[in-house]
Amino acid sequence: MTAQPPEITPFFGLRPAPSATRPRDPRPGVSGLSAEELTAWAAERGLPAYRARQVLDAVWRGRQDDFAQVLTLPAAIREQLAEAFRFDTLAETEVRPTDGGLTEKAVHRLSDGLLIESVLMHYPARVGARERHTLCISSQAGCAVGCPFCATGELGMERDLEAAEILDQVRHAQRRLAAAGKHLTNVVFMGMGEPLMNLDRVLEAIEALNDPARFGLGARHIAVSTSGVVPGIRRLTALGPQFTLAISLHAARNPLRDVLVPLNRRWPVEEVVAAAREHAGATGRRVTYELTMIEGINDTDADADALAELLRGDLAHVNLIPMNQVAHTPWTGSPIPVVERFADRVRAAGIAVTIRFNRGTEIGAACGQLAAEHAGQPTPAVVKRRRERIVAQSAAALRGERSSEPAPALAAAEAAS
Ligand code: SF4
Repeated sequence: MTAQPPEITPFFGLRPAPSATRPRDPRPGVSGLSAEELTAWAAERGLPAYRARQVLDAVWRGRQDDFAQVLTLPAAIREQLAEAFRFDTLAETEVRPTDGGLTEKAVHRLSDGLLIESVLMHYPARVGARERHTLCISSQAGCAVGCPFCATGELGMERDLEAAEILDQVRHAQRRLAAAGKHLTNVVFMGMGEPLMNLDRVLEAIEALNDPARFGLGARHIAVSTSGVVPGIRRLTALGPQFTLAISLHAARNPLRDVLVPLNRRWPVEEVVAAAREHAGATGRRVTYELTMIEGINDTDADADALAELLRGDLAHVNLIPMNQVAHTPWTGSPIPVVERFADRVRAAGIAVTIRFNRGTEIGAACGQLAAEHAGQPTPAVVKRRRERIVAQSAAALRGERSSEPAPALAAAEAAS
């Protein structure tokens, strides 16, 4: 894409909101409703079915920000709709462009004051590949998994998002794209939160994205990422949709993965990969494995060989992404020559590998980084304690010792899947 992205939402100067500051708006978001639900709502009020279709059109294809602007509907119906539903569950949005306009990072404020993020990435057309516009969305406000290299993990868990709060991130991005005559081509659940710990709402959102009467995006253009909630992966496999499964792997050896992805203490890496393998077998879709590359921690030859051994013969694709600097970690991203050497060793085992770069590093494109910035930085003493803990844990992991600490948020993970 050569042109600047259109119509950048003005800076709202969102204020810190480390936790919910006011009660949630009890009205459901209208984007969470199916055609059948809206038709039933209209029928209860004696309205014809075409009124429900008009609402759906306004929600999914219109440029309006509010029911009051949907002039295809009579004023009385607009008022009824506004009483029953929220047109937009994202109360405020601030968009910051970077990478010469190729990346737009949005911070959204929810009705209770919590902040979440989405990132819109533009990929210009090139030989053999069409122009793409990919949106990375959040499924939770905060996250309970607590990966130490992640700014969202640093924020802790606040709450699950409603389906409409997930979907409205997509509507916001699509409205910005539509102003330039463009359309969102891909949606990835890789923003804040562990999607499989909010699986019911994530599945509702996928259904809406997939539904031709609503967003109409093919399942093959949707990817769901997980840090390894094995029951959730199995549930996705049983449902059989053709969307892409992405595993946030980060390490192939259990001692190190215990530290980098604390959920590994409950579902070790072999179980996660076995569940992903079943998903690939059932859907015929290649599983993507993501590794955030951290200098001197998970980028050694031994790590590359362990990964190659783990995935040998699988329907798999590996993405290597040098880590973004996060304030509370003592780590830095792996240098590119190290990442290339790692990639070559994994490729030698016949596994496809791509080296990717985290978009928008100067605006904090590591997930949760911008929301963390709004929430305020931890004190130097807290940062020091966290760094010391991470150093001690990773040193033990590099000696091959498994963590004795409990896995985080297991109840939530088991209940959600
Ligand atoms: S990397 Fe993903 S799973 Fe881990 S803490 Fe961050 S948001 Fe949660």
